[in-house]
Amino acid sequence: MTPGSAVYLDNNATTALAPEALDAMLPYLSGLYANPSSAYGPAAAAKKGVAEARAAVAALLGCSPAEIVFTSGATESNHAAILGALSAASGKRHLITSQVEHPSVLLMCRHLERLGMEVSYLPVDSEGRLDLATLPSAIRPDTALISLLWANNETGAIFPIPEAAAIARSRGILFHTDATQAMGKIPVDLRQVPVDLLSCSAHKIHGPKGVGALYVRKGLTLPPLFHGHQERGRRGGTENVPAIVGFGVAARLHDELEREMRRLAALRDRLERGILAFMPCAQVHAQDTPRLPNTSNIGFATLDGEELLHRLEQAGVLASAGAACAAGGHEPSHVLTAMGLPKTSVLASLRFSLGRYSRAEDVDHLLRVLPSILLNLMDVPEIIAREALSCAH
Ligand code: PMP
Repeated sequence: MTPGSAVYLDNNATTALAPEALDAMLPYLSGLYANPSSAYGPAAAAKKGVAEARAAVAALLGCSPAEIVFTSGATESNHAAILGALSAASGKRHLITSQVEHPSVLLMCRHLERLGMEVSYLPVDSEGRLDLATLPSAIRPDTALISLLWANNETGAIFPIPEAAAIARSRGILFHTDATQAMGKIPVDLRQVPVDLLSCSAHKIHGPKGVGALYVRKGLTLPPLFHGHQERGRRGGTENVPAIVGFGVAARLHDELEREMRRLAALRDRLERGILAFMPCAQVHAQDTPRLPNTSNIGFATLDGEELLHRLEQAGVLASAGAACAAGGHEPSHVLTAMGLPKTSVLASLRFSLGRYSRAEDVDHLLRVLPSILLNLMDVPEIIAREALSCAH
């Protein structure tokens, strides 16, 4: 269940396709290829596949199937939510978001600023916490939308979305949340949380890439990003039926969420304890805030994170330096930077993210190979390196 034979600890970047999802998709990649919008008999199977997937995704989110619009992924869902809200609220030119959003929201906001919109970026503290008191004061008469990440892809920090959504509702402002990393990892129940729009993606929950969904609360009509008749006029373009079917099956695999959360949190704690035992100097980011059970973002003092990542790969472990989307760019993480970490600490931080197929053996392999990699990276005699890693000054 890992690319090649490596230990895969990068499940926030993407996940392995569940075999159950693959099996369900295959018939739709061969015989069942009819367009679900066609009127003849063979299209019925495609239509049924999409309907069942819609029900499964809705069940995982606690909403009604009619509130789910299938998209090409969370990037598209985020764009559709933001642009839709702006064009629905004609004349309103202000958005509120946070400094630690995913680039699909942040870069879109920067683009909108260049077009003349105004955006307020709420700050976070050193734990990645959002101070809810900053939200009401950012609201203006021309605020069209508040868009906040539910769970951070880099640190796993969870924002108080129910409370933030309630503030938006009380002020009559549309509220969108990017729940791409929250869905399937923590309870997301839209019967309890007054959000208007929510983005999610199949490939973060062991479904295929290139498919996601936008939840649009019943009664809300927004101009679509893609015009056309599909998805009841809310998203034009022939449905990606095999991928949608795979998404539905992946969503159904998350029915024992509480148990899986406990299992992953125990594995994550094992990973963190093991690293801290060898390197008490290491810093677990967002440790004192509610966070995803599968995510651990760790600062390795001032070591070179890129080099550490490279050596881990040579030792058979795949992890990530911040977001996968930014990897290769050597840009220091905007999330850790917003948390006030100095650049050297940001560049020394790695993200380990667990998934459905992660096992204790995977964590133990990491803990076996990491100490000698850290000692070698220090490039000083071992006795001095050991002292430095243990913070003994
Ligand atoms: N939002 C968040 C929080 C994410 O982690 C990601 C994926 N890295 C996205 C949006 C984009 O999702 P997709 O790949 O489906 O476009």
